[in-house]
Formats: sequence, C-alpha cells, structure tokens
Amino acid sequence: MKFIDPHIHCISRTTDDYLYMARAGVVAVSEPAFWAGYDRSSQSSFADYFRHLTDIEPLRAARYGIEHYCWLCINAKEAENVELSREVIQLIPPLLNHPRVLGVGEIGLNKNTRNEIEVFEAQVDLAAKHDQLILIHTPHLDDKHKGTSVIVDILKNDRRIKPERVLIDHCEEHTIRLARDNGFWAGLTIYPVSKVTPQRGADILEQFGPRMIMVNSAADWGESSPSMLTDTCLEFRRRGHRDAELTDIFFNNPCRFFGQNPKWKIRAVET
Ligand SMILES: [Zn+2]
Repeated sequence: MKFIDPHIHCISRTTDDYLYMARAGVVAVSEPAFWAGYDRSSQSSFADYFRHLTDIEPLRAARYGIEHYCWLCINAKEAENVELSREVIQLIPPLLNHPRVLGVGEIGLNKNTRNEIEVFEAQVDLAAKHDQLILIHTPHLDDKHKGTSVIVDILKNDRRIKPERVLIDHCEEHTIRLARDNGFWAGLTIYPVSKVTPQRGADILEQFGPRMIMVNSAADWGESSPSMLTDTCLEFRRRGHRDAELTDIFFNNPCRFFGQNPKWKIRAVET
C-alpha cells in the first residue's frame, strides 16, 4: 500500500527514517516550517531554514524515491517576538512560487497569547493575499480546545478564507468537530508515547469517519516516529477495515487536500 505523510519534519530525521518510509510505502511527504527546539536569533536564520526546506530536503527525499513538499511560516513559539516575526514574514512572498512550496504553515497558537494571535493574523492575511493553502498548528497543552476555537473564529471571520483550503492539525476527540463541522480539514497526529496513540487514532477514525481527515506522524526532534502512520494503518486493518478504506485515509485524502495546489502532482486513486 502507498502512503503519504502530510506532516513530518524531515530536517530532524535520519536517513534511516527515510529508508524506513521508502520500505513502508511512503511515496510523498509534506514538511511544515516549525520551531527548531530553540529560538532563532535573526531573519537570516530563517532564510537559511527556508532554503533547506525548499531546496535541500527534496534532494534528500528523492534519493529514497519520496516526493518532498514544504510549507513556510514563522511558528507560534517564536511568534512571541513580533518584530522578528514581521521580518520573517517578509521573506515568504518571493518563495511562494517555488515548485515545492504548498502554502503557509504550520501557523497557529501555542499558549494563545496576544502576540501569537497578532502574528497568526498577519500570516492568515499573507495566505489570503496570495491565495495559499494553510496548515494550522493547534496547541498541545490543556488549552487545545480554547486555542482551536480562537483559530476557527479568526478564520471564519475572514471572508477571503475558504475552509476547504485549510488543514487544522493535531486534532483530538474534543476538537475534531470544531474543524470539520466548520468545513475545515482535520489532521490527526499519532505519537508513540503520549497524546494520540495508534489505537486512539483508529478509535477516532471509527468514531468520526474518514471524511476530510488526514493522519500524520508530525515526527520531529522529539520522541516521535514516521512509523506512527503505518502503525495506525495496521491497527485500522486489524479491526477489519478494507484496503479501499485505508487507501482513502492514508493516500487519497492527502491528495485531495494538497491537490488544491496545482504544484501537487500525485493523484488520488480509485477505491
Ligand atoms: Zn509540526
């Protein structure tokens, strides 16, 4: 079976991970811009990071037969520095035509602060002005529901934003309806030790149905793994679901969302 990982930070992963993904059937990945584990000190750090995402990581991935696409933004954690954030946002428009850039992301909120909201709104405006897809990070903390509500309200109040062109990621049982019932795509991030496990991910897919849901590993430099995608697929299959359903969730849904950007060349298959 073929897979797409819609959210993975390849910059933090080893070549063994690429090899694993290739063996497991991952044919394409999408890498949002995120926090490096420390706050970067200048606009030029981000310029280099964006060059890595657009030009270097696709070459690494291609060695394993994997198509690599990316998203650009300043993430919510570093958005506390509003001045630097505005400088970083200025770097983005000239890169939006790059053949590997799918849109603006992962933007969103971390601690739901005033500064985070200001920078989030500036990047929603950037995406709207340039007619870009949006990938949203929702808080991992206790205030996930509040943060997701604030994000959904900001997006719904902007008439330029088409919900079907926005993926709201890191959804859980208590936030998935906020995303989907408002017309947005919902991302499910599967973790090896905390948060949503493969079993809980399969429960959510059964409870809510696969429409407009994408499963991802969000693997980064923390405890995480690209195998969370395949483990969730195995758990779903073990419960008796047909291959056609699996293909729809793990391959076709990402193609449907990303395919709204003509740069995405992989087509959904008949199931
Ligand atoms: Zn991420």
